[in-house]
Amino acid sequence: MIVITEAICQKVIDNKNSFVAVEGVFASMASGDAYNFPVIREDIGYADAIYGFKSGFDKTAKTLGLKSGGYWPGNMKNGLTNHQSTIFLFNADTGQIKAMVGGNYLTAMRTAAASSVSIEHLARKNSKVLGFIGAGHQSTFQLRAAVERRNFEKVVAWNLHKEMLPNLQAVAEELGLAFEAMEREEVAAQSDVIITITSAHEALLMKSWIKPGTHIACMGTDTKGKQEIDPEIFAVASVFTDEVAQSISIGEAQHAIKSGIIFKNNITPIGNVINADHIGRKTDSEITIFDGTGVGLQDLAVAEVAVVAAKKLQLAKNIDVYS
Ligand code: NAD
Repeated sequence: MIVITEAICQKVIDNKNSFVAVEGVFASMASGDAYNFPVIREDIGYADAIYGFKSGFDKTAKTLGLKSGGYWPGNMKNGLTNHQSTIFLFNADTGQIKAMVGGNYLTAMRTAAASSVSIEHLARKNSKVLGFIGAGHQSTFQLRAAVERRNFEKVVAWNLHKEMLPNLQAVAEELGLAFEAMEREEVAAQSDVIITITSAHEALLMKSWIKPGTHIACMGTDTKGKQEIDPEIFAVASVFTDEVAQSISIGEAQHAIKSGIIFKNNITPIGNVINADHIGRKTDSEITIFDGTGVGLQDLAVAEVAVVAAKKLQLAKNIDVYS
């Protein structure tokens, strides 16, 4: 078994190779070559933690495995990130463990890659202003990945906890972008692309605020009950997702589905757009939503890239588990 530490992941995974891995696996999911197994997600009744497994198999890439982990809200005060995870890859021919890979950095990178894949395929080409609803741990990863897809000039942002905004501002300025913190309604008024990445359980963006032509990447809602946008936006938008089954049950679309605003067949896997089976955005005035729920195959795909790169650079430790 190869052991890939968080430090090695940071050396070998960047926005370019994680974009390629995630775009590829979304395409394989849409063409039926890769599928995610049912997600296990449990409130363990201790430390307010949510713990579970995301797993799947990509037949073409022969990538088999799982990500184990969850959310520990008390971690931040102890100097750890709230999300903690580890990825395990198995040999698809034998079932033996192939690699154990630190999953914290990779989770942020694959989540950022998902929204950047959606920006690449759905946002207007002339998008200039990138809006953020949320400025937590994931937000700076989201920003770094998004700027690779469009020539953004300005970042506008709102966050419930104002003290978190300077972190996002620092990265925007490092990337040479103007930055302005403002109210949510103003973020919607100025943005061409909006990324929502919060732990909210209520609508933070209202339908009447959204400009024609906006692309919204909803990245925070990955559990039943979470919510970031007004479900009525779904009525006027073209809706895309990583995986329809997750979108309607644990994703942002769960609320629009529950209220009968849209139906399952109104949601298109983004892999169909990548595979050119769906046109994606049809006009510059269309509102598009990407419901990025986060699938296990994203984790496995970037972990596989990390394993190959770490082996090539002779960075990985090898442990014989079976002798
Ligand atoms: P974090 O704990 O670092 O930050 C939480 C963010 O949510 C902050 O911006 C905070 O101000 C905001 N927030 C908290 N409660 C809120 C409320 N009631 N209303 C509005 N904003 C609120 O978390 P993070 O690591 O940045 O993750 C953000 C969200 O993204 C989490 O909900 C997480 O579960 C989700 N996530 C999704 C994926 C995916 O694949 N879709 C992957 C990783 C994380």
